[in-house]
Amino acid sequence: MQFHLNGFRTGDPSVAPSASTDPEIKSAQSASEEVDVLIIGCGPAGLTLAAQLAAFPDITTMIVDQKPGPLELGQADGIACRTMEMFEAFGFSEKVLKEAYWVNETSFWKPDPENPRNIARSGRIQDTEDGLSEFPHVILNQARVHDFFLETMRNAPTRLDPHYGRRVAGLEIAQGEKAGTHPVSVTLERANENGAQTIETVRARYVVGCDGARSAVRQALGKPLLGDSANHAWGVMDVLAVSDFPDIRLKAAIHSANEGNVLIIPREGGYLVRLYIEMDKLNKDERVSNRNITSEQLIAAAQRILHPYTLDVKEVAWWSVYEIGQRLCASFDDRPEGAVDDRLPRVFIAGDACHTHSPKAGQGMNVSMQDSFNLGWKLAGVLRNILKPEVLNTYSDERQAIAQELIDFDREFAKMFSARPKTSGNGDDQGVDPNEFQRYFVKQGRFTAGTATQYSKSLLTGNGTHQNLTAGFPVGMRFHSAPVIRFADAKPMQLGHVVKADGRWRIFVFEGSGVTPTDQPARSGSMMKLCHFLADDLASPLLRYTPPGADIDAIIDLRAVYQTDHQSLSRDRLHPLLTPRKGRYGLIDHEKVFCPDLKTGPDIFDLRNIDRVTGCLVVVRPDQYVAEVLPLDAYAELTAFFDRVMIGRG
Ligand code: FAD
Repeated sequence: MQFHLNGFRTGDPSVAPSASTDPEIKSAQSASEEVDVLIIGCGPAGLTLAAQLAAFPDITTMIVDQKPGPLELGQADGIACRTMEMFEAFGFSEKVLKEAYWVNETSFWKPDPENPRNIARSGRIQDTEDGLSEFPHVILNQARVHDFFLETMRNAPTRLDPHYGRRVAGLEIAQGEKAGTHPVSVTLERANENGAQTIETVRARYVVGCDGARSAVRQALGKPLLGDSANHAWGVMDVLAVSDFPDIRLKAAIHSANEGNVLIIPREGGYLVRLYIEMDKLNKDERVSNRNITSEQLIAAAQRILHPYTLDVKEVAWWSVYEIGQRLCASFDDRPEGAVDDRLPRVFIAGDACHTHSPKAGQGMNVSMQDSFNLGWKLAGVLRNILKPEVLNTYSDERQAIAQELIDFDREFAKMFSARPKTSGNGDDQGVDPNEFQRYFVKQGRFTAGTATQYSKSLLTGNGTHQNLTAGFPVGMRFHSAPVIRFADAKPMQLGHVVKADGRWRIFVFEGSGVTPTDQPARSGSMMKLCHFLADDLASPLLRYTPPGADIDAIIDLRAVYQTDHQSLSRDRLHPLLTPRKGRYGLIDHEKVFCPDLKTGPDIFDLRNIDRVTGCLVVVRPDQYVAEVLPLDAYAELTAFFDRVMIGRG
């Protein structure tokens, strides 16, 4: 973490200086009738977006929710490895790691072949494959995830806080001449303490509906959620219980012979356990609320499924019943279908507002946050006049495709989980072999970890022409972090952790050693030549897009990784661009250069299959995805890439 750049400050460095002390900068809170971005909904999707936008003092953001205050308990709890990587970018991964339950292993239970009334363990596996991410898969109450985002917003320069008790009652988008600068009008109903209602109207440049499965924003856009109707009731409860079930502190998928299925998710704190319990099949078009299922019924069902083990529930902290259904919106913004090229989007939907699925694969909260992480930097870039507005089209294109993949996966996963276990030896071809379920679970591990996402070729994503230079950083996938040593202070760290949720792009340059063993990397090497280009050539993206007077890394942050061990690398080999002078005092930023961790390993060049002779450069988007891989001398291609997405400084 870097601080003190613009003068020494006492106190907690994670609390940014308030923008309101600068009269030139608008406060995000002061404007309530006209804002740049209005976010509807304080769920995971809305809060991720708000935390991202709160970092920019020059953007006015308002976030509202119909609830009277923050979520306190319940709802989702699974946090995928990929989401932890995103939390690192927001600066609170360590807090989550400390507080959460870590899902290290998963066990599988099926009917005991000797006595099918009992359950018996059929397998126990490592939950996440080695090397998939530097972070584990963890479990933590959704309300705590909200807390961390709210804290991030409060500590940001804009000191952003939600406006609770406001319900969206209407939304209109003005077109043509009437549009003006703030074309979207949203009507909010505000309940007063005496029960009376006030109507407020907020005009926004952009509106993002993060308002959950019954989204009013989606309905205002006239976009239906299409898909399977729900037909199976499930219960979920968080309990404090005494049990002799041996795997009560492991994630466990349990299939009983005739009593249904349970998924056990141990929770943070050592005692709490979540149970997902299969209940009744519903009739066509029947809602789960019609069944009047009680928490006592959920407990009794869990006790029957766990037989011969016992479950003595002492306290139910939270419980809910729901029906499974996989539903998806055809697009995630307001552009009319069939005419998406006619105009640019002004209203977006994210999270459950545009896709719903079963909770057992633990994807709802994760995918919702990834939706708005994808959108946040794009909105910020367009509003700050850095990115071309066409970049906003990529949000729906990228995230709708990912949601479709999730829906397909979830349909299969939920079907397998709900299926009756196959009984052996009697020609049973209806049930699912529990071993097959276990194999499926392992096969889909990358998907559930959130690391399988790969965006297709687009304005933002290259076509992988130079992918042969590094197999370990696939274009379109998230930048897969690896250990390195920071050159200046010999600190062992993860290279990916330099990517913060600050809207900046990164260029990681991996040094090439040269063509022959005698051609030692030196001032004439490709790294040095690239730095000369970036520092001096008028075609340099750093020069073209960095605003006058701003630090040279304000828009594109250059980082270099050498092959030499950190004690042998000479500072003489570094171009001044790698030790830039920044801030009001022109202090030197010493944190741009890295070396492989040759002491404890692995060497990042080996781990990510980087061509040692040519090296490569990796362009990383502000949301941690690899946009392009290029040779070190592909100056024209590098310039062309940024020209496609950025607005020049003129
Ligand atoms: P949400 O978290 O639904 O947030 C939407 C927000 O918008 C809410 O705060 C809501 O008050 C607000 N809002 C809605 N309409 C309006 C309006 N008109 N005006 C203003 N504000 C509005 N997932 C699991 O993995 N496991 C679970 O056990 C689980 N249980 C759940 C139980 C419940 C009761 C619910 C609702 C969801 C559950 N989920 C569960 C799903 C998971 O919580 C969601 O996938 C995730 O929260 C989606 O995040 P989101 O931000 O898109 O929407």
